[in-house]
Amino acid sequence: MKFFSVYGFAFIFLGWFTSAIAGTAQQENLIDLQLRWHHQFQFAGYYAAVEKGFYQEEGLTVRLHAGDPAHQPVPEVLSGRAQYAEGNSEVLYQRLQGKPLVALAAIFQHSPSVLLTLKDSGINSVQDLIGKKVMLMNVTEDADFLSMFLSEGVSLSQLHVLPSSYDLNDLTSGKVDAFNSYLTNEPYFLTQRKIAYNVIDPSNYRIDFYSDILFTSEAELRDNPKRVAALRRATLKGWRYAMDHPNEIIDLLINKYHVEKTREHLEFEAAEMRKLIFPDLVEIGHMNPGRWQHMADTFVKVGLSKADYSLDGFIYDPTPRHLPDWVLDILVAVATVLIAVSFFTYYLQRLNRHLASAQNTLGKSEERLRLALSAANQAWFDLTVPTGEVSISPEFPKMLGYDPDEFHASLQDWQDNLHPDDKEAVLTVFREGLRSGGPATMEYRRRKKDGGWIWLSSIGKITEWGPQHQPLRMIGIHTNINDRKLLELELERQAHIDYLTGVCNRGHFMEKAEQEFSRAARYGNPLSILMLDIDFFKQVNDSHGHKVGDFVLKKLAEVCKKTLREVDVIGRVGGEEFAILLPETDTEKSAEVAERLRQDIANANVPLEDGLPINFTVSIGVTSLLSKDENMDVLLNRSDKALYEAKNSGRNKVCVAMQ
Ligand code: GH3
Ligand code: MG
Ligand code: MG
Repeated sequence: MKFFSVYGFAFIFLGWFTSAIAGTAQQENLIDLQLRWHHQFQFAGYYAAVEKGFYQEEGLTVRLHAGDPAHQPVPEVLSGRAQYAEGNSEVLYQRLQGKPLVALAAIFQHSPSVLLTLKDSGINSVQDLIGKKVMLMNVTEDADFLSMFLSEGVSLSQLHVLPSSYDLNDLTSGKVDAFNSYLTNEPYFLTQRKIAYNVIDPSNYRIDFYSDILFTSEAELRDNPKRVAALRRATLKGWRYAMDHPNEIIDLLINKYHVEKTREHLEFEAAEMRKLIFPDLVEIGHMNPGRWQHMADTFVKVGLSKADYSLDGFIYDPTPRHLPDWVLDILVAVATVLIAVSFFTYYLQRLNRHLASAQNTLGKSEERLRLALSAANQAWFDLTVPTGEVSISPEFPKMLGYDPDEFHASLQDWQDNLHPDDKEAVLTVFREGLRSGGPATMEYRRRKKDGGWIWLSSIGKITEWGPQHQPLRMIGIHTNINDRKLLELELERQAHIDYLTGVCNRGHFMEKAEQEFSRAARYGNPLSILMLDIDFFKQVNDSHGHKVGDFVLKKLAEVCKKTLREVDVIGRVGGEEFAILLPETDTEKSAEVAERLRQDIANANVPLEDGLPINFTVSIGVTSLLSKDENMDVLLNRSDKALYEAKNSGRNKVCVAMQ
């Protein structure tokens, strides 16, 4: 009886326990996702992921919540009412204010936010807005507009700003002069009503923001990293599906979500969105840290954030590098070595007394150490500096592709096989370690048996040695960090290049420009800059489509690379604007280079699938460094002015700035 009751209780308890666990699991995978606004094609990917069971495949049940003024993405996530949401630049803004938000994917590579004006009004540039009534949402959501005003030298006080009414009649009735809108939405109504309009687009003023960003909280990422990865994966799969089957999603919106928009309007929205998502060129959701940084810098420039911000932890990395694991491995191995070394000493003492039996135990300890190191892809070394002799565990030759028997380790051999670019830095650390007697850590490339290179990290402790107690012995660990290092370098490279054209992106170009500027200013060397803008590029997009427009951009970058020298720096600084730095080049020479480039570009052509190849031209502004120039901005402005002049005096021209 007693037996039964104890086990009976255990069974009941177990039953309760397992159902409790199952209950939590179910609870845990029920997810609330807050959308920015009412249901519409803008959120197509999420509907697709729900409808096609992509979330379900990942074990997730996702409830989508339409947005309205009382249900906005950031507050919903911060309060925990939703774990995930889709938001605009306010996500970055709030993060810069210290809110624990993490961006998971940028769905729109370019922001759809534009200002609309009526064609009759004659307002079609930022300058034309001065003194006019302009509708805006608020500073954090309209940061791209603010930046556009700022970059054109127009302050908010010069405009008559009104809060957004979301009512397009306010524009058509003339109540306001400019109306904030989505390229994917309001233009449709205007076209339908046959009302001619102008678009003032921040991207034409070099303001290029991500939009429709899937994000979550730091807490969610910390507590449920697998769920974050699963939700992101399923969502992007949904987006890919929606981009491939827009009509199916439109049916769904009409039949299941009962949207107010007509089918024709939804079709318009889908077509416009394609141009902003770039599904054929860019992996959906792609985020470039450089572009995020550019957005953050823009916030700083407009005075919405402090300059000492950090984006650490904000940009989700879908392929984590496991750096912490690696560090842990090293620590464990170092500890193993230290323990082994003390064992070693201990056994050496014992050796005197119990030679025969101790030797056996020592062998075992060494074997253990060896196994631990080889499992961790590491090798120990022990270097006697004055003689240059190195004892090394057999894992080291193996790392380099040698048979342990054919490898002879020495300080000389180590030095001879360092990568020439790493030599100086490594030897400095090494000498500094010897001088101070402290530990030394270095990362460098070392030649392998097959002539290739491997990235190693060597951590060594300098110890005293010999009767003079000199810090002359170094003992430590070599670690094979090749995979991690290559990944790190690749990520760094990607952060610096423009994904479309392969030239420097804006951020990286500016960094290089600053470097070249200070170098030239310090040594009094010449330095020139060319500013290029494609002529009538809108017409290319309008008559052949955005994709062909992109081919033109690629072609332009290709011609620049071919025509210019290796040392010249090419950057894509705006949508279709490029800047080129010519180090060691004076005005006369740079004007020649610009003219040659102009001709090469005019002679290049982009083949079309159906039809004749198209030609295009550029206008170029040229300027060179003057001794009175205080910073790079002065030069950039001057080249911009020269470019403007080239445009105004007929295009397909080179203009040299007046000095
Ligand atoms: P011009 O410079 O000679 O005055 O005339 P434009 O037609 O080139 O005028 P503008 O420089 O203002 O137009 C820039 C256009 O570039 C507008 C925008 O649609 C397009 N654009 C910007 N970025 C991209 C891009 O990445 N791909 C494509 N295809 N077009 C882009
Ligand atoms: Mg332009
Ligand atoms: Mg242009």
